[in-house]
Amino acid sequence: MRALTNSDSLELLRDLIRIPSVNPVLAPHEGHNEVKIAEFAVEWLRKHHIHAEIEFVEPGRPNVYAELGDGDGPTLCFCAHLDTVGTEGMTIEPFEPTVEGNRVYGRGSCDMKAGVASIMSAAAILAAEGTIKGKVILALICDEEYASIGADHYVLHHKADACILTEPSDLKMVVAHRGFLWAKITTTGRSAHGARWDLGESAITKMGSILVGLDQFDKKVLRERKDPLVGPASMHVSLVNGGVGVSTYAPECQIHVERRTLPNEDADAVKAEIEQVVKEAVEGAEVEWYFKRDPLLCDENAEIIQHATKAYETVMGHEVEKIGWEVWTDAAVFHQAGIPTINIGASGFGLHEPVEWVDFESVMKNTDILVESAKSFLKAGSSISN
Ligand SMILES: [Zn+2]
Repeated sequence: MRALTNSDSLELLRDLIRIPSVNPVLAPHEGHNEVKIAEFAVEWLRKHHIHAEIEFVEPGRPNVYAELGDGDGPTLCFCAHLDTVGTEGMTIEPFEPTVEGNRVYGRGSCDMKAGVASIMSAAAILAAEGTIKGKVILALICDEEYASIGADHYVLHHKADACILTEPSDLKMVVAHRGFLWAKITTTGRSAHGARWDLGESAITKMGSILVGLDQFDKKVLRERKDPLVGPASMHVSLVNGGVGVSTYAPECQIHVERRTLPNEDADAVKAEIEQVVKEAVEGAEVEWYFKRDPLLCDENAEIIQHATKAYETVMGHEVEKIGWEVWTDAAVFHQAGIPTINIGASGFGLHEPVEWVDFESVMKNTDILVESAKSFLKAGSSISN
């Protein structure tokens, strides 16, 4: 018997939207109540007889950890982020969710308070049934929309045998996505009075050769390198800075580039390629790699894929579509920590846009898929371990 009605879950989703939890780094001037939403989630879960607590990643930046089950068997993690992007430019009321037919409107309705509601609802249903062998743990985390400090912190402190994320995916199963690398490239010129063509050398002009080289490399080489699930590799120049005044030869120029990587690409090889392009364009330019996020590729034979596929068919009555994404998600953090991870989330529209909504029926289907996945995964795992 279902312990939770659909209207309980709808009310939960609306309550989550009503608590603004805009990422404080992205929009410092907006209400950022990650703590308030975390406290709400803990209280709600405890009311449904689930052990839940806040874990602070940094002051004011909380994750919610929750667990249920008897621990005698494998551990399955459900993960969603509590933060949202800002509300600038929105043309609907961001934090007073309206319901029209199946649609629930509001900032974060789709990305991804729907996913949070699905996970919390699934946990409440599983707790009420009380038949779990093994453990389900919840990761309701902060900061996905900026630097993913929540996910990084969570995997340092908690282990699981598999993980399902619930970013909105139209109920398709995401088994792969791209990663990325960031680099800063610097050229050096010779500063001189703007009249002294005989002395000056512009770092900006040098950078021009690098820009042309990188553009050619992106369009001719990377775009031809395709992955069947996530499409081609790519890169772009996202920031530029250089020069000191209109009448002075520019002593320095800097650009930042972002390289989006495919699941089977090696990070060191990716770096070496770009360094080569830069070197061929300008001798002596500096390349500094300063941030990296790995791609996601869940092994097609991973148990979680098999169990979630079966669960999907039980709930939906047809085969699940397995896809890859161009964008990066927290799934890669779990995957990198050695936890086979996939994503199945609700349907909706307007992520980071002026009008955002989620299809509530898909939220309930997502909940059912999580419940069935947990039952199937934990049952199989506990019989193996017995
Ligand atoms: Zn999201």
